[in-house]
Amino acid sequence: MNDEGKRLDGKVAAEEVVAKVKAETEKLTAESGITPGLAVIIVGEDPASQVYVASKGRKAKECGFHSVQITLSADTPEAEVLGHVQSLNDDPSVHGILVQLPLPGHIDENKVIQTISPDKDVDGFHYINVGKLGTGDLSNAFVPCTPAGSMILLRKALGDDLSGLNAVVIGRSNIVGKPMANLLLAANATVTIAHSRTKNLQDIASQADILVAAVGRPEMVKEDWVKPGATVIDVGINRVDAPERGEGKTRLTGDVDYEGALENAAHATPVPGGVGPMTIALLMANTLTAASRVAGRELPKF
Ligand code: NAD
Repeated sequence: MNDEGKRLDGKVAAEEVVAKVKAETEKLTAESGITPGLAVIIVGEDPASQVYVASKGRKAKECGFHSVQITLSADTPEAEVLGHVQSLNDDPSVHGILVQLPLPGHIDENKVIQTISPDKDVDGFHYINVGKLGTGDLSNAFVPCTPAGSMILLRKALGDDLSGLNAVVIGRSNIVGKPMANLLLAANATVTIAHSRTKNLQDIASQADILVAAVGRPEMVKEDWVKPGATVIDVGINRVDAPERGEGKTRLTGDVDYEGALENAAHATPVPGGVGPMTIALLMANTLTAASRVAGRELPKF
């Protein structure tokens, strides 16, 4: 299907964000002597996490950042991980700290996240930042990267003010669903959060002018779930078998049947190439924001 004019292209939008981060970083470093620093802690050998962390490091370097990676073995005691977080909190060359999730079972993820200084919490998971977002104090919060990136794509389709529009977010995780709902509310949409216990999900979804799927179930949202003219944001990343590509092959797909949805939607994000590239771009943007705050400069807008 030709999705020209309907596709919300995350690759292009992410490149725009990264280009702005690079330009602003150059200015920041030239004018204040501060180079944004991003530190990533990874514990264990999860292959997907290793890929994510490597690409975050590469992107940080591309942006002109000081990039630190702390790689710890899967059996690292919790106290040692907390010690690393504390050292990074105290390190003035580091402005953003990210702990790659999931952590091994013996480590309390929440304890680790709450140990990160809220001023360096570029993932936006610390209670202080969650609270700022929840109270609409967006200019002082770190907003989680995936919902923040999703909002940029949404604004490309619908503009800044979503007054009068019904938004339905499927998924209520702390990482995606809840912060996404808060961002939509801050942009004046009328927001419904649906989840695994919601009844009549299709009926609710099909009333949405803005439909966000953040579930983790391949192509759950079908053509007839989408209201004519809706904007669909697919956050899901699911790996499924792809025997058509050869034996044992797999492919990535979202939570939305993209081709089906486009029969009704005015705009939709593909997977891959939609929300995914935005997440890492917004991590760079948040790190630049953290460094700009330390420098006492006006914050770049994304
Ligand atoms: P999660 O497992 O923490 O949350 C999933 C949510 O979906 C839950 O709130 C649950 O109530 C809801 N849910 C589960 N089954 C449902 C059903 N049958 N009907 C309605 N709701 C249902 O997952 P998450 O961390 O929020 O991630 C969601 C998806 O987004 C995953 O596919 C994940 O890989 C993807 N993701 C993508 C990015 C990105 O960069 N694009 C970032 C984070 C997560």
